[in-house]
Amino acid sequence: MAGGLTEEKAMTTTSSCDSCGMPIESGRYCGYCTDESGALQSFEERFARMAAWQARRDPAASQQDIERQVLDYMATMPAWRDHPRVQAR
Ligand SMILES: [Zn+2]
Repeated sequence: MAGGLTEEKAMTTTSSCDSCGMPIESGRYCGYCTDESGALQSFEERFARMAAWQARRDPAASQQDIERQVLDYMATMPAWRDHPRVQAR
Protein backbone atom coordinates (compact mmCIF):
# COMPACT_ATOMS: atom_id res chain seq x y z
CA MET A 1 0.00 0.00 0.00
CA ALA A 2 3.03 2.25 -0.19
CA GLY A 3 2.94 4.95 -2.88
CA GLY A 4 4.78 4.85 -6.20
CA LEU A 5 3.10 1.90 -7.85
CA THR A 6 5.08 2.21 -11.09
CA GLU A 7 8.39 2.16 -9.26
CA GLU A 8 7.33 -0.90 -7.34
CA LYS A 9 6.26 -2.69 -10.51
CA ALA A 10 9.68 -2.07 -12.03
CA MET A 11 11.35 -3.77 -9.08
CA THR A 12 12.00 -7.47 -9.16
CA THR A 13 9.66 -8.61 -6.45
CA THR A 14 8.23 -12.09 -6.31
CA SER A 15 5.01 -11.45 -4.44
CA SER A 16 2.93 -8.90 -2.60
CA CYS A 17 1.54 -8.73 0.92
CA ASP A 18 -1.84 -10.46 1.17
CA SER A 19 -2.97 -7.82 3.65
CA CYS A 20 -1.90 -4.50 2.11
CA GLY A 21 -0.52 -5.28 -1.35
CA MET A 22 2.97 -4.01 -0.67
CA PRO A 23 5.66 -5.87 -2.65
CA ILE A 24 7.55 -8.36 -0.50
CA GLU A 25 10.36 -10.77 -1.22
CA SER A 26 8.93 -13.79 0.57
CA GLY A 27 6.14 -14.93 2.82
CA ARG A 28 2.51 -13.86 2.81
CA TYR A 29 2.58 -10.57 4.68
CA CYS A 30 4.87 -7.56 4.94
CA GLY A 31 6.46 -6.39 8.18
CA TYR A 32 3.85 -3.66 8.67
CA CYS A 33 0.94 -6.09 8.74
CA THR A 34 2.38 -8.56 11.21
CA ASP A 35 3.17 -8.50 14.92
CA GLU A 36 6.51 -9.42 16.52
CA SER A 37 5.82 -13.13 16.12
CA GLY A 38 5.04 -12.79 12.42
CA ALA A 39 1.29 -13.30 12.80
CA LEU A 40 -1.13 -11.15 10.83
CA GLN A 41 -2.48 -8.24 12.90
CA SER A 42 -6.20 -7.96 13.61
CA PHE A 43 -8.64 -6.40 11.19
CA GLU A 44 -9.21 -3.46 13.55
CA GLU A 45 -5.47 -2.82 13.80
CA ARG A 46 -4.95 -2.88 10.04
CA PHE A 47 -8.11 -0.90 9.38
CA ALA A 48 -7.01 1.85 11.78
CA ARG A 49 -3.52 2.01 10.27
CA MET A 50 -4.78 2.08 6.71
CA ALA A 51 -7.38 4.73 7.57
CA ALA A 52 -4.66 6.92 9.11
CA TRP A 53 -2.50 6.40 6.03
CA GLN A 54 -5.37 7.18 3.67
CA ALA A 55 -6.28 10.31 5.68
CA ARG A 56 -2.74 11.61 5.17
CA ARG A 57 -2.94 10.92 1.45
CA ASP A 58 -6.35 12.57 1.10
CA PRO A 59 -6.67 15.22 3.85
CA ALA A 60 -9.81 16.73 2.31
CA ALA A 61 -11.83 13.51 2.56
CA SER A 62 -14.32 13.00 5.38
CA GLN A 63 -13.83 10.21 7.90
CA GLN A 64 -16.73 8.37 6.25
CA ASP A 65 -15.07 8.65 2.82
CA ILE A 66 -11.77 7.46 4.25
CA GLU A 67 -13.35 4.39 5.83
CA ARG A 68 -15.19 3.53 2.62
CA GLN A 69 -11.98 3.88 0.60
CA VAL A 70 -10.11 1.66 3.03
CA LEU A 71 -12.83 -1.00 2.96
CA ASP A 72 -12.86 -0.89 -0.85
CA TYR A 73 -9.12 -1.37 -0.85
CA MET A 74 -9.23 -4.18 1.70
CA ALA A 75 -11.84 -5.91 -0.47
CA THR A 76 -9.07 -6.44 -3.04
CA MET A 77 -6.75 -8.05 -0.48
CA PRO A 78 -6.80 -11.84 -0.03
CA ALA A 79 -6.35 -11.49 3.74
CA TRP A 80 -9.45 -9.31 4.19
CA ARG A 81 -11.87 -9.72 1.29
CA ASP A 82 -13.94 -12.30 3.18
CA HIS A 83 -13.97 -10.33 6.45
CA PRO A 84 -17.50 -9.44 7.67
CA ARG A 85 -16.69 -5.71 7.87
CA VAL A 86 -15.53 -5.76 4.24
CA GLN A 87 -18.45 -7.90 3.10
CA ALA A 88 -20.92 -5.58 4.87
CA ARG A 89 -19.61 -2.35 3.33
ZN1 LIG B 1 1.22 -5.64 4.39
